[in-house]
Amino acid sequence: MISRRKFMKSMCVAAGSVLYAGCSDAGVPGNGAFTAAYAQLEEQGRLAGRVEEAYAKLERCDLCPHKCLVNRIRGEKGFCQAPERAVVHSHTPHYGEEIPLVGQGGSGTIFFSNCNLRCVFCQNWPIAHLGRGREVSDEQLADMMLDLQRRGCHNINLVTPTHVMPNILGATRIALKKGLKLPLCYNTGGYETVENIRLLDNIVDIYLPDLKFMDNDKSAKYVIKGRGDYPDMAQAAIMEMNRQGGVLRTDKRGIARHGVILRHLVMPNHVAGTREFVSWVAENLPRDTYVNIMSQYRVEHMAFEYDKISRAITSGEFVEAIQWAKDAGLSNLDQRSLSRYEIHRRRLS
Ligand code: SF4
Repeated sequence: MISRRKFMKSMCVAAGSVLYAGCSDAGVPGNGAFTAAYAQLEEQGRLAGRVEEAYAKLERCDLCPHKCLVNRIRGEKGFCQAPERAVVHSHTPHYGEEIPLVGQGGSGTIFFSNCNLRCVFCQNWPIAHLGRGREVSDEQLADMMLDLQRRGCHNINLVTPTHVMPNILGATRIALKKGLKLPLCYNTGGYETVENIRLLDNIVDIYLPDLKFMDNDKSAKYVIKGRGDYPDMAQAAIMEMNRQGGVLRTDKRGIARHGVILRHLVMPNHVAGTREFVSWVAENLPRDTYVNIMSQYRVEHMAFEYDKISRAITSGEFVEAIQWAKDAGLSNLDQRSLSRYEIHRRRLS
């Protein structure tokens, strides 16, 4: 008797093999000779300097656009409420991410507590808003990375990393010296400064940003109360990620090695601005950027208090979202999203 979990895992693996067979590129790092970006930077003698530069930011924290300028080394806390050390909720292989991240061994996720956003519809609010988790040293964080590598994961997927970026860099350097080889995947809500993303150049191999909202007023209502700069900040950061990583490249097994995977969650009543999102991508990024337009919005946390987002999306809303993306010429849409599109489309016909 095969368990549901094993069945889902085998389906993902099978789908990945089919979908990505033939997508390999002999020139892509990872086809037998992958070296993570941070390892190359260490070889050049430049990683230690980046760790130092990142840690210096904790004394007047400007790791994200809030620019709280608090001294986190002395215990002061800013908007995100993060202390000096990283707080981790859990670390585990994850099979629910995009197929190129999951492969056979799963994506090695580390869920960081606290967040620099306050989305009223947050699905992880006990971790992101209440900060549930345990403080860890950089050495302990490095051990988690190595544990995920030992368990066969294909990448280190850093979930909500912005406010702990210095700790991540410190831990990566420790883990590298103990044998870490996996690419880092920077899984961010998108509220970043270009300056901080530049610090990650030649350290992060895979960028996994959200672009949640396109309208300033809506972001001030649903993402960070009173702050409408989310769209501008996220768009600028994503352009820099694209400059560094470009279009996603996979190895001969279809496993992500380098580049950008861009996420956007369709929300009810068009509040996320999906049509504008699609137009922005088409105008500002390569048309073959890997884009995951997601359908799994659910009413969580405070969302029931807001009329326009207090329901799930309809089949029609998801179908039109994917259709807009196709019409705009986006040619590298997530395969599972396309399957869901087909299901919803047939439901409507
Ligand atoms: S990371 Fe936290 S403390 Fe630092 S600027 Fe952002 S919200 Fe403020």
